[in-house]
Amino acid sequence: MTSEETRRDLVVYGRRLYEKGFVASTDGNLSARLPGGGFLATPTGLPKGELSEALIASLDGDGRPTQGVPSSEWPMHLAVYRARPDAGAVVHAHPPFATALACAGRTLDRPILSEVLISLGAVPLAAFELPSTEDLAEGVARSLGGHAAVLLANHGAVTVGPDTRAAYYRMETLEQAARIQLYADLLGGGRSLPEPAVQALKGLGEGYKLAPLPCAACEGCPVAAGESGAVVLRREELARLLAEFARVNGRA
Ligand code: 13P
Ligand code: ZN
Repeated sequence: MTSEETRRDLVVYGRRLYEKGFVASTDGNLSARLPGGGFLATPTGLPKGELSEALIASLDGDGRPTQGVPSSEWPMHLAVYRARPDAGAVVHAHPPFATALACAGRTLDRPILSEVLISLGAVPLAAFELPSTEDLAEGVARSLGGHAAVLLANHGAVTVGPDTRAAYYRMETLEQAARIQLYADLLGGGRSLPEPAVQALKGLGEGYKLAPLPCAACEGCPVAAGESGAVVLRREELARLLAEFARVNGRA
């Protein structure tokens, strides 16, 4: 994925956080690691519904701003990137149901939803620390560990992913699961899945990966862009393109 596509995704999924009600006013922030080194992050104090590509801040490989003023939670994002070399993007939001669980000192503490076990796994809870502090940054990175998401006590949630889109959809999954757990609690408590099913579901993650979007360059083309930016082409399509190339260049 190019840095322009990465920048565009921060705007697209930042706006979506706002549209879905996962953030209000200036809440929340998103960032992404650039393939060539360095990072992009949303600017501090800007409602995510008002993001545009020119407003995205840039940071160098050490996390120092080189353009614009990044989110006040940038230390938390940087701590996560340092602890998780596999993280290509970090999303922080205050989605109401997940944040309600975090305010109650709870998390997704019962294995009641099969899809959540597959796609999100266990979600830990990081102890409360003042927003935008190094203490919060360290605590979140430590509690996140190798997980895909972490709840922040009395604050919100953080998700990571190979790219912004994946990290965003983990936030959606987390919020939906928190909402269902709360409704199940109101109905007397969700019934936990049996332990053998829990173990079996944990092994199914690979089969439920987020599919890549078709290549953005030409709508409806058969080329799919992978997470790494690599393109996958069907054999017959490659043959057709090579034949076309040869024809255009007068070699066939
Ligand atoms: P920023 O506007 O600085 O990104 O802060 C929002 C937020 O959620 C703080 O925790
Ligand atoms: Zn916050």
